[in-house]
Amino acid sequence: MGGEAAIHIMGAGLSGLAAATLLARAGREVHVHDIRADSGARFDGDFQALENWSIEKDFFDQLDEWGFDSKRFKATEFKVIDLIHPDDIITQPKSDRVSYRIIERGTSEHTIDQGFKQMALEAGANIHYKSRVKEEDCTIIACGPKGTSAVAYGEIFHTNHKNHISFQLNDKLAPGSYSYMIIIDGVGLICTCLWRKQKKSERFLNETIAWYQNKYPEVDMKPVKRVGGKGDFTINRNYKQDGRYYVGESGGLQDFMWGFGMRMAVWSGTLAAKDILGECDYEHEVRKKLMPYVKTSVVNRWLMNRVGNRTFKFMCNNWMKSQKRHGDGLIWVSKLFRPSLFKRMLYPIVSPFMLKSDPKAMGRGVRRMPFRPALKRDWWEQSPEAKAVGERWDNVRRSGAKTSFSDDAESPINNEL
Ligand SMILES: Cc1cc2nc3c(=O)[nH]c(=O)nc-3n(C[C@H](O)[C@H](O)[C@H](O)COP(=O)(O)OP(=O)(O)OC[C@H]3O[C@@H](n4cnc5c(N)ncnc54)[C@H](O)[C@@H]3O)c2cc1C
Repeated sequence: MGGEAAIHIMGAGLSGLAAATLLARAGREVHVHDIRADSGARFDGDFQALENWSIEKDFFDQLDEWGFDSKRFKATEFKVIDLIHPDDIITQPKSDRVSYRIIERGTSEHTIDQGFKQMALEAGANIHYKSRVKEEDCTIIACGPKGTSAVAYGEIFHTNHKNHISFQLNDKLAPGSYSYMIIIDGVGLICTCLWRKQKKSERFLNETIAWYQNKYPEVDMKPVKRVGGKGDFTINRNYKQDGRYYVGESGGLQDFMWGFGMRMAVWSGTLAAKDILGECDYEHEVRKKLMPYVKTSVVNRWLMNRVGNRTFKFMCNNWMKSQKRHGDGLIWVSKLFRPSLFKRMLYPIVSPFMLKSDPKAMGRGVRRMPFRPALKRDWWEQSPEAKAVGERWDNVRRSGAKTSFSDDAESPINNEL
């Protein structure tokens, strides 16, 4: 080990394991600590999308370049999506390119978390589960969310329907955000994201499921569990402080608008490892390569917070018009995510109104996007169909099904359900 000090990493999720793999491969002694019993346990069976539009390069080519093997986990490619407008019209943005890949989070062998865990173990990293360490004793902080800016939760079901994905912009079912249905090889997920804090938030999921049942009657659903979690969106004055690297969600490196964070998690873990190995300057690289996207997403979120279904409809129409003009549905969404002069100019104006200082962030100057309060329009009674969905879930739960966030005492949704 050349007499170099061992490196301790807090969190065995995507960012921590990416860093651990590269460091261990370079011959460093690495210890990764995670409070949970396994990597991916934070999500346990949730489907997530690896976006492939924010930069020109395919994410799997990036993984290859960094030395990760994308065949170590199951990924299902999609080139088309059902886009559900707020007035329930469905259109289909599509592309010749791989638009996104659906992966599973969790503890099953084929999940992305287990793929990264295997790569880290093979490289020689030591992973300690159910291990509690202090931030001060670690070099890389990769422990996911601390606070809550938004929540998402969904129901997983078994189905005979073929692979499919729908993305819905609807401010009633998903306040300030979106809902989605993903079906991969006989397993489905209907999820809604709440970017405004709600009371009795289970009704949003019930109503969303009822909506999909009505619109997609051909999809049979046998619920098996409910999953979900919180997202933490922060801007940090320093991404490396007192010799510590803040990576992934712990460093606030996520898309503020819609919550995509896996790509930046692996990317930032990689950059932290490269800095430790003397190959780059982490702070500089994060600011140059990742922050322009994060800042663009802050502006996008600021705009989203100001609108409702009328603007969502306008967005859907523009998306389809762009597809008609360019023959590629990915161009509109790429433009939305990529930095522009307009958004660069807006960022310093809007960010002070969007973010609140976190006094507990060890002097790192962390500013968090607070969980916004509910609006008047968020108060409504569940439909009879949604109540039936809730009762169906209650029966499944009584027979032993679980919610994957039930052991996360900090989660506001846990307190709700
Ligand atoms: C419901 C939901 C859906 C999402 N969907 C998408 C999506 O479709 N696409 C996308 O790109 N992103 C999505 N995201 C965001 C994405 O999950 C995160 O950006 C990404 O997981 C961050 O990676 P990370 O390495 O920072 O954290 P994680 O991969 O979550 O890893 C953090 C690890 O740290 C551990 N830990 C926590 N506290 C401690 C502690 N005190 N000590 C030690 N270990 C600790 C946790 O157990 C966990 O294993 C979603 C998030 C949520 C909540």
